[in-house]
Amino acid sequence: METLMQNLSSKRAIELENEYGAHNYHPLPVVLDRGEGVFVWDLEGNKYYDFLSAYSAVNQGHAHPKIISALKSQADKLTLTSRAFYNSALGAYEKYITEYFGFDMVLPMNTGAEAVETAIKLCRKWGYEKKGIPENQAKIIVCENNFHGRTITIISASNDPDATKNFGPYTPGIVSIPYDDVAALEKELEDPNVAGFLVEPIQGEAGVFVPSDDYMKRCAAICKEKNVLLIADEVQTGIARTGKLLATCGNCNCQSSCENNPEVKPDILILGKAISGGVYPVSAVLANKDIMLCIQPGQHGSTFGGNPLACKVAIAALEVVKEENLQENAEELGELLRLELRNMNSNLIELVRGKGLLNAIVIKETDKVSAWDICVKLKENGLLAKPTHGHIIRFAPPLIITKEQILECVSIIRKTLNSFE
Ligand SMILES: *Cc1c(COP(=O)(O)O)cnc(C)c1O
Repeated sequence: METLMQNLSSKRAIELENEYGAHNYHPLPVVLDRGEGVFVWDLEGNKYYDFLSAYSAVNQGHAHPKIISALKSQADKLTLTSRAFYNSALGAYEKYITEYFGFDMVLPMNTGAEAVETAIKLCRKWGYEKKGIPENQAKIIVCENNFHGRTITIISASNDPDATKNFGPYTPGIVSIPYDDVAALEKELEDPNVAGFLVEPIQGEAGVFVPSDDYMKRCAAICKEKNVLLIADEVQTGIARTGKLLATCGNCNCQSSCENNPEVKPDILILGKAISGGVYPVSAVLANKDIMLCIQPGQHGSTFGGNPLACKVAIAALEVVKEENLQENAEELGELLRLELRNMNSNLIELVRGKGLLNAIVIKETDKVSAWDICVKLKENGLLAKPTHGHIIRFAPPLIITKEQILECVSIIRKTLNSFE
């Protein structure tokens, strides 16, 4: 039977996905079968640098031995109990992650979108019960070109037509303002019914838009003044990706956690993706007690949230970030990568931008060469990256990458761009 897939070819694997899977993605034509560190291999055994890292979920590298070992040993012992009972891994994980990021409490979920939903629910509840917003009047402010996930409420905050068209009616109570526009925020916060401001410290999916240096700091100050919760979506930027543990405090010199820089500390922090090193879906919402305790038993939950397998995997993944100094490596090699990309002086590159190892090149919009064509060619030359919004290519390798590997990738990119000129 074909399901055994003894001699599956890439061609056949792609046909199967096309025939039997929903067409909600448009992947690059490469079928990955194995991964280790910064590399992945396709079914034919070709080796590639992974310059997407599963949208920054695989910051620690593929199949990190420490994380896989935590997964295996916990899988043999206990995987899921639901929260109807206590489990022996959850409390220790909750203590670990809250101390790690400097918050009183965590609410564990599974995916990024669920964590964003949770944060919105928590913020609304706080708005009614602590701020005294009249029933059903709470507003959440979001930014244009955001990406926070795919649920109905979250797409209600989106202005991307692909994400929203014919998915209505949308969730009310969401107001969108331009990104990196402090004055626009200030104006919206004059409304006393605003409960929260949901923002990415760098807009990842939008194409790695880095705001002004003091943007988050000024947003935090205004939110504080107006008694509005600052909700930082660090699902993609968090956990060392941008050269700091968190990008929200990326403009300070704090090297350990936001706690050291209270003026840019979000009231609610949303994490996902790399919290498990890409091994298992784990996400988290962190806040202090005055906010988190607005949710009481029975008011929110998830069958898989806080399961022992997730807890053990996440602790291991977070330990790796510290043990292997991933934030320093991301900072240093990110500088090098941007410098090398700028020095290419390629006619195809309009702009290089990013922070740490979350970077993008903007491709000049001509009818000759598209970002997609460049990504297909990069693939042929041994490097996997994906276009976003037609003309932007994100370069975000696992944070364990070495200087030598970055330089090899730079030469692959140079060779690829040259082949079009
Ligand atoms: C990926 C992402 C999400 C959604 O995470 P999922 O696990 O795909 O649901 C939310 N916010 C940001 C900033 C992201 O990059």
